[in-house]
Amino acid sequence: MKKTLVLLAALAAALGWAYALRSGAFTPKGKIIKRTRFMMNTLCTIQVPNDLGARATGAAIERAFDRMAELDKKFSVTNPESAVYKFNHDRAPITDPDVAAVAGTALEVSRATGGAFDITVQPLVDLWGFYTTSASSQAVPSPEKIKAALAKTGWRRIILKDGRVTAADPEVRLDLGGIAKGYILGEGAKALKAAGVKSALLLTGGQVQSFGTAAPGLPWKVGLRNPRNDGYVASLPFDSEMGVATAGDYERYFEAGGVRYHHILDPKTGYPARKTMSVSVITPDPAWADALDTALFVLGPERALAFARERGLDVIVIDAAGKIQTSRENPARNKK
Ligand code: ADP
Ligand code: MG
Repeated sequence: MKKTLVLLAALAAALGWAYALRSGAFTPKGKIIKRTRFMMNTLCTIQVPNDLGARATGAAIERAFDRMAELDKKFSVTNPESAVYKFNHDRAPITDPDVAAVAGTALEVSRATGGAFDITVQPLVDLWGFYTTSASSQAVPSPEKIKAALAKTGWRRIILKDGRVTAADPEVRLDLGGIAKGYILGEGAKALKAAGVKSALLLTGGQVQSFGTAAPGLPWKVGLRNPRNDGYVASLPFDSEMGVATAGDYERYFEAGGVRYHHILDPKTGYPARKTMSVSVITPDPAWADALDTALFVLGPERALAFARERGLDVIVIDAAGKIQTSRENPARNKK
């Protein structure tokens, strides 16, 4: 990993970094079975070396997709059937084990990041209009409205006890959008393993998870992509359980008065976090990777890097000016 980050830093320096990061994959041609399904509002791809035979591999991939689609429904803020929707609209306690597990991890991340990650931001996300794609509903809210929405938030008002999620007061609304995708990828990986798959690469918009290798001795290669031109600027070799999640200011946003307003909100101010363009978190646990990319985005580059170094996490941050920084020292640069 160190080598990779060195490579990234060198590349960034060479290119005069002006890119935001997204994740993609390079794979050897031929022996990989690859399937794609639309879910979580994006295309999901699963790649598996064809060791079990095409039929068994294809069936395993479909089973993983089915599990992921089932979870996608459970976490939806807009589907009236979902546990999250019923909690938000009918005050129904959450007893679903998957949703409760995600809420539990979310609370751990909130605690670890001083509340930078907060799944009670739902009233704010709604106010900013990020649950629709219609441009007309996206506008900068008045300070009064932001204040009113902020008053409804606060992760400490969530009560998780014996696998049951309730809230300390009736105004609390949940949005698991900052962590659900990571959990879903992890469950997809588990479903593949349960079907006998020994290696796989799972991809969705902004996040990748791997286990095993693409072929004996050949790691999966995960590209960090330049979303502006679809080119790749670096690749990360993964040869074991590993993942990378990226949060960026370019995924969902609108512009007003020359300012970009995006969907990652600072729970302390109620406004989009300002100091970061993109954060990638490289770590084996996909739910943590997903939650942390959002949290570290909010914290801003300086605090994100300090957090990463304290915990031995691999993190790549691009600040608002487009400067790339990695959480580990760059030995190549030190040698000069
Ligand atoms: P994606 O990759 O799907 O864009 P991210 O991991 O970047 O997701 O998370 C962004 C989503 O998280 C937002 O769309 C919103 O639903 C939710 N969110 C926004 N701000 C926060 C926050 N401070 N804490 C937790 N969740 C947030
Ligand atoms: Mg996230």
